[in-house]
Amino acid sequence: MKNMMKKAVVLALAGTMAMGIFAGCGKSSDTLVMATNATFPPYEYHEGNSIVGIDVEIANAIGEKIGKKIEIEDVEFDSIVAGVQSGKYDFGMAGMTVTDERKKNVNFSDPYTTAVQSVIVPEDSAIASVDDITSDMKIGVQQGTTGDIYASDDYGEDAVTKYKSGPDAVQALLAGKVDLVIIDNQPAKSYVAANEGLKILDTAYAEEEYAIAINKQNDELLKEVNTALSELQADGTIDSIIKKYIKD
Ligand code: GLN
Repeated sequence: MKNMMKKAVVLALAGTMAMGIFAGCGKSSDTLVMATNATFPPYEYHEGNSIVGIDVEIANAIGEKIGKKIEIEDVEFDSIVAGVQSGKYDFGMAGMTVTDERKKNVNFSDPYTTAVQSVIVPEDSAIASVDDITSDMKIGVQQGTTGDIYASDDYGEDAVTKYKSGPDAVQALLAGKVDLVIIDNQPAKSYVAANEGLKILDTAYAEEEYAIAINKQNDELLKEVNTALSELQADGTIDSIIKKYIKD
């Protein structure tokens, strides 16, 4: 019994110390650092000197609810989970799909929206549906994304060329370096609208859910974020933010 008490005290102390470390991870205790990759319209992208989009607005709405300012760090998508895990960033929000693999390293909030992986091809491509994709084709993806993970699993690493951002993969497609690009549907629409000669296949490649990545030790932030999300969902804020950016 005594030993158990001791254990409890030690655990409580460790918890307090861990929280101390987390409080130090933002610029100040009233700021939360959000890691994102702002090449992903309409979720996060550059407009003039600022980073805007669905994720940015939802993050700010959450920040307002929990009394914190949101400071954005624009980093490579591939480094977000590791940075959240190490405590470099308070949370990651980047159209990020919940996956079992990522769950080993970070916690996810409740999902705030759903998405699909889709396929971009040149307008004159012989690829008419997902079933036409074979492992002897050259598939472009954004490194470390679910598009990358699924394509590497389904067609083998050799078929897959990994680019640092979605726009880089699309440029490679336009240059004929790859035959298709697998990427999230909404950014795909923006990239296709911004470049002539490309189209999106009608069939979706995979369906998924987006959520916010939070450090596994920071249960308090996870709870605060989930409470804020459910309030913002209930009062229609999330819906109206999404509708502002996605018209169809
Ligand atoms: N939804 C995809 C993923 O989580 C892509 C996200 C992104 O590129 N920002 O892997």
